[in-house]
This record gives sequence, C-alpha cells and structure tokens, in this order.
Amino acid sequence: MNRYFAIVPAAGSGSRMGAERPKQYLPLAGQPLIFHALATLCAVQAIDSVTVVISAEDEWWGLHDWSRFDGRLHVLRVGGATRAETVRNALQALSAGLDEDDWVLVHDAARACLTTSHVESLIATLSGDPVGGLLAQPVADTLKRGDPSGRVLQTVSRESMWQAQTPQMFRAGLLGKALIDITGVTDEAGAIEACGLSPRLVAADATNFKVTFPQDLALAELILQSRSV
Ligand code: C5P
Repeated sequence: MNRYFAIVPAAGSGSRMGAERPKQYLPLAGQPLIFHALATLCAVQAIDSVTVVISAEDEWWGLHDWSRFDGRLHVLRVGGATRAETVRNALQALSAGLDEDDWVLVHDAARACLTTSHVESLIATLSGDPVGGLLAQPVADTLKRGDPSGRVLQTVSRESMWQAQTPQMFRAGLLGKALIDITGVTDEAGAIEACGLSPRLVAADATNFKVTFPQDLALAELILQSRSV
C-alpha cells in the first residue's frame, strides 16, 4: 500500500519579489500566499500529512491562523541555506515516520494556484513508476539565450523542452540519498538526475506557475478568484 507525504519548503526569502516580508507571507486573495498551496495539499485524500518547512528565525508563521489544517499540517523549523538543504533537513527530521518506499511530494510554497486535480494526476501517473517524476509544461515560446547587456546571443530550440513545476514526487529513500552531497540543483528532480535516473514528466498547465515577481500576484489572485465563483 503506497503512502504519500507532502513537504512544502518555505524557508526562502523571495528576494526577486523585492517585498518587505518573505514572499510566502505576502497577502493573496485574503490569505498569506502559502496558505493556498497548503489548503490544496491538505485537501488531497491520498496524502497522509503535509509538512511545511520554515527557517528557525521565521517571525511570520506564528502571526497567522492555521487551525483549519489541524491534524493535517505539521511545521518544522529546519530550513537550510538552499532549497535542497531545506528538503534534506526535512527528510532527516521526518525519517523516523517515513519508510524508504513512501512517496514524498515536494511543492513550492509559491505555486499558489495548484489544484487537487494537478496533485491527483501526478499521483495517479507515478504511483507505479520506478523513479518518480514531476509536474511540468511543454515550452510554448521561442527561447533566446541573452548576454549580460540584454542582447540575444542565440536562439535555443524549444523542441522537447519542458518547464519544471512542482509537486515533484519521489520515494523517500531515493530522494534522501540523492540530496546528500548534491549541490547546485534547483529542484528535487535535478538531484535524482544527478544519480543517473530519469524522472517522468507529467503534463500540467500554466496556472501552476510560481509567484516570483510582483506582477505575478495579480495573476494568481485572478486565477484563484475565478475558481471561487
Ligand atoms: O527561490 P525559489 O523560488 O526557487 O524557491 C522555491 C521554494 O523553495 C520556495 O517555496 C522557497 O521558500 C523554498 N526555499 C527554501 N529554502 C531556501 C530557499 C528556497 O525552503 N533556502
């Protein structure tokens, strides 16, 4: 019987947002931004529990009411200097309750428009997979590599290119091993690839984007509002 656990690394500063508080706590549709992804993950029946990972110095978490997630949501203050370190610390902290074969779904706090259908499609596609994988979207635009002055160096073929999203879903044992001593990866799939394995790409859509720049907040708000009517 497969078991599924969600981990939401939320120990980043969100510097590209240029805001006065960490991105995950910026207001979005009447709640802190991170609330929306947590609500979706907590609503997925197949997921046993959701763990949010914040930094030891986080002063914002305690200012909000998370009681509606009681019994489903756990908080760890073990954030690291990088996303990979944050996830590795969380896996170590959770290891007593995790079996090697349990599935772990790692999701960016900033992908606020995640839906239960996105997660259920990922789980349904990967639950029998030998490696695991991630939500992703085929690249639609023509890609350009730029130089530091903002001029085009090269057009890069978009054929077979995908934009990686989250959740990224791997077995706890494999992911824990892959994240040890791996540096320079920006997602869990990158660590798995560094072990010589090929994660499966599970097609999602553009609404599961990562809120990164100030203008992204308005778009996320529109998407969330359009679903609540
Ligand atoms: O910086 P980026 O947008 O790629 O971060 C993706 C996710 O990783 C965010 O949810 C962020 O809070 C988290 N993160 C973390 N620990 C870090 C850096 C980022 O948990 N040191």
